[in-house]
Amino acid sequence: MRINVLGVGFDNLTMDEAVARAVELLGEEGTHYVVTPNPEIVEVCRENLAAKIAVNEADLVLPDGIGVIKGAAMLGTPLKEKTPGVEFAGHLMGKMAETGKSLYLLGAKPGVAEQAAARLAEQYPGLHIAGTHDGYFQEDGPVIEAIRQSGADVVFVCLGAPKQELWMKKNGPATGAKLLCGLGGSLDVFAGVVERAPKFWSDHGLEWFYRLCKEPKRIGRMTKLPLFLVHVRQEKKKK
Ligand code: UDP
Repeated sequence: MRINVLGVGFDNLTMDEAVARAVELLGEEGTHYVVTPNPEIVEVCRENLAAKIAVNEADLVLPDGIGVIKGAAMLGTPLKEKTPGVEFAGHLMGKMAETGKSLYLLGAKPGVAEQAAARLAEQYPGLHIAGTHDGYFQEDGPVIEAIRQSGADVVFVCLGAPKQELWMKKNGPATGAKLLCGLGGSLDVFAGVVERAPKFWSDHGLEWFYRLCKEPKRIGRMTKLPLFLVHVRQEKKKK
């Protein structure tokens, strides 16, 4: 049973359990996809029904940050732990490297996915990078075909939310991949273009603040964070 946070159902898993489930999905028939919503995406889902459906229909819905964990706890239905997309992806690549699975990197500005590919191939010996494509394409068809031709087992889809969730739901099966993971800005992190917050900040639930200091243009988007907490409080009162 999923834990409902303002209309988004989250899987209640530890990081190890989430990775194990993803590995299982890789071995199953058909195409599956993983989403990693943060409070901002939950807020988007409240206003955008198509996004909400794409998120809730994912095979794994993982809480990306501390905001969702706090929200779930305030609602009296705590989640085990945060499972940030970028860390989940790191663990998954470790498992893929052990079993020789292949990965396609889709998203970010031109050149970033290639840069990420070079670094990841070094970091995870045994991981096969099947191909890369930037995230600023006009037509889906050629991108789907490129992924299909690559024969990738897994695709990291990093187009920002809710674009990546809608893209995976619509196009996932046509890519022929087993598993697609929507991972926001993770390729920028893997490429070394964007730094993740040091451990101190994330341990204290302040990763969002660190990102805001580094990228002040995020301020508009971040107004969604307090809004999320207001909505959680309203929901709690209704209970
Ligand atoms: N992006 C993309 N295509 C688009 C819009 C965004 O590839 O049409 C990329 C963007 O370059 C960035 C990522 O999607 O690498 C989204 O990053 P953001 O920081 O918004 O994601 P978050 O991690 O906050 O979800």
